[in-house]
This record gives sequence, structure tokens and C-alpha cells, in this order.
Amino acid sequence: MASMWEPWRGCHRCSDGCLHCYIHKGDAKRGVNTNEIVKTKNFTKPIDKKKNGEYKMSAGLVYVCFSSDFLIEEADEWRKECWQMIKERQDCTFLFLTKRIERFTECIPNDWNDGYDNVVVCCTVENQKNADKKLSIFKDLPIKHKQITAQPLISDIDMEKYLDGIECVVVGGESDYNARPLHYDWVLHIREQCINANTNFEFRQCGTYFIKDGKEYKLQVKDLMRQAKLAGIDYKIL
Ligand code: SF4
Repeated sequence: MASMWEPWRGCHRCSDGCLHCYIHKGDAKRGVNTNEIVKTKNFTKPIDKKKNGEYKMSAGLVYVCFSSDFLIEEADEWRKECWQMIKERQDCTFLFLTKRIERFTECIPNDWNDGYDNVVVCCTVENQKNADKKLSIFKDLPIKHKQITAQPLISDIDMEKYLDGIECVVVGGESDYNARPLHYDWVLHIREQCINANTNFEFRQCGTYFIKDGKEYKLQVKDLMRQAKLAGIDYKIL
């Protein structure tokens, strides 16, 4: 089973896809200021040990910073220590998503070279404007494992020219009462580009408002992932 590691929490909206950010929504309900970036008590989680000297966190996949953005400015000093912990845990694969890929080269450690084997970087884009801006940077970065997440997808995207070296593209709609609609044609278009480029593709979730064959459907949060899986359109390279 995968682990979660939240070394800090909090984030600022910085992109069109941030409009209905689930972290801001959750924090607003609890009266927490999302714009304040704070270290958590789990900062050293990957290297915390039990009394017998074993690591508390299991080996395997680790999702990093799902309550923030790993490349956010306020964490520049803290991140240095995170890279050390990531380097120490060679039995784990650390995956983070970022909407700040333009900061990548100023955030990596001195010994990064062509990338750490145990790090997966996932660049998130939501429309053509940001795909062109971010994926054109992402494609040239020295990273061993690259993924793209287009969620929430709010426009069709031509991305085939950026798919060289990408291990997987994940697509999903927006979940919110005021969500922007997801058109199934956009999902199929991105899937087609992935097949052409022989890149894994996953349709992870529908949108609250989902348009298929010219008809708009309103879906419940609980059904968003299930409906996407029912479409049966994931593409896996054998
Ligand atoms: S970058 Fe991610 S976590 Fe930060 S505000 Fe945007 S959607 Fe939320």
C-alpha cells in the first residue's frame, strides 16, 4: 500500500486549475488559512524509526505534498532536507504533483544530475495555454520519471508533441457545485494522442458536470471515479 508524506501544508492559487482547489475548500470549512505554509509534525516521516531500528514508513510508493505543492517558494529551505530523506530511502519511490514546474531547476539538489531514480515528477496542466507554457519546460528537464496530470481538465489540449519520455498521462474532471464541465471528447482526444505516442493513459475521474454526445450529466462526488472506470478507456503499455 502507498504512503502519504506531507512535510508541509498550505498553498496559494497560482493557475487556472486552482479555482476550486480541494485543499482550500477543506481548510475553509475548518477555519484554516491555506495561504500560510507551515511545516507539519510529519516532516521527517520517511526516516522516522521504530525502537528496533526499522523505518516506520513502509517501502514502496510515497505520495508527497498532496496538501501543498512540493515546489512552493516558502518551502525552499525545508526542501533541502527532504531531498536528503528521499535519497536515504532508496526502497521508496516518491511521487509529487506540481503546478510550479517553472521553479524546478532552482529547487533540485546539487547532486541531482539527470535525476534521482526514486522520484516521479508529475506536471499538472488544465488547458492549452498552461500546457504550452508548462509542458514546453517539462519536456527538457532532467527527470528520470515524468508524468502529466490533466485534472481538472477545463479545455481540450493538444499535447502530443510533449509526450516523448512521459510515462503516464492522467485525465480527470473538476469536482465542485460550480465546476467547469468536462467534455468526454477532450478525454478521448488526449487518449488518442497517448496511444499515438505509446504513453500510458488513465481516465481517473469524471467531472461534476460531464458532457457526452451533446448531453450534460450532473454527477455525485461519490460516482466520479467509478464512472470514469466504467468507461473502460485506460490505455496500458504492455
Ligand atoms: S497548486 Fe494545487 S494545492 Fe496549490 S492551490 Fe493550486 S490546486 Fe491547490
